[in-house]
Amino acid sequence: MTNRNVIRVIRGQPATDGAGVQLVRVIGQPALMDLDPFLLLDAFRSEDPDDYIAGFPAHPHRGFETVTYLLAGRMRHRDNAGNEGVIEPGGIQWMTAGKGIIHSEMPEQQDGLLEGFQLWINLPGKQKMTAPAYQEHDAARIPTESRDGATVRVICGETSLGIHGPINQPLTDPLYLDVSLDPGVEFAETVTAGHNAFVYAISGQVSLDDDSGAQLSLGRDQLAVLGPGDSVRLQAGDEAARFLLIAGKPLLEPIARAGPFVMNTDSELRQAFHDYQSGNF
Ligand code: MN
Repeated sequence: MTNRNVIRVIRGQPATDGAGVQLVRVIGQPALMDLDPFLLLDAFRSEDPDDYIAGFPAHPHRGFETVTYLLAGRMRHRDNAGNEGVIEPGGIQWMTAGKGIIHSEMPEQQDGLLEGFQLWINLPGKQKMTAPAYQEHDAARIPTESRDGATVRVICGETSLGIHGPINQPLTDPLYLDVSLDPGVEFAETVTAGHNAFVYAISGQVSLDDDSGAQLSLGRDQLAVLGPGDSVRLQAGDEAARFLLIAGKPLLEPIARAGPFVMNTDSELRQAFHDYQSGNF
């Protein structure tokens, strides 16, 4: 086993999106525009309804997948094909936008904590115009693995103990784990060699090795890009810690992106705008 050391640390930047939602943009900002196949990672966490109540009214997507994972609060989504549902705490919505959808994502609450993440995962050029699809799972359908002092929610991929998440996406073969550690606990996991991987700290502090062999401490809103290897090792600090461990197969294709569309070429982007504006979504 070769440990994946930290090669870069990125701090999420405050951003506003939708109709005025305050969030932290971690991937998809100047310091880290993408980490192939990941195009965007937004984290939102607020008890102030002014930060989230405006939500994300109707908007289009084409060419990739959006993965919404809620820790607290509820979000209702509706799309132009008549699909509708509510994401509850601990639940996941994995949406393949494919050739195009128009949807809204609105808080299903007037007050209280809303906390969660949206990750955008690219699709290979040959699959960008696939039919839209959803994979939705509530908290009860996401397996929880208990280790010594560690709790792992397996959203996608397979752990070293053989637990599978409910999501299926062979194109990018993602690993998506939500890991909670008791104070001081060490955690090690395999991560497929050749896949791009990162750790995003939700709460507490976790330490990882950097490329010089030094220990690096990662805290709230920080993302560590992991270097080559086939495993990762972390340790919680003096307090409990929680983080996302996410990895995926890089597509190694050109990326042309503009707002809600991510294609391979500028001409495909123009076609996306044209199709959307002419009502062909
Ligand atoms: Mn959306």
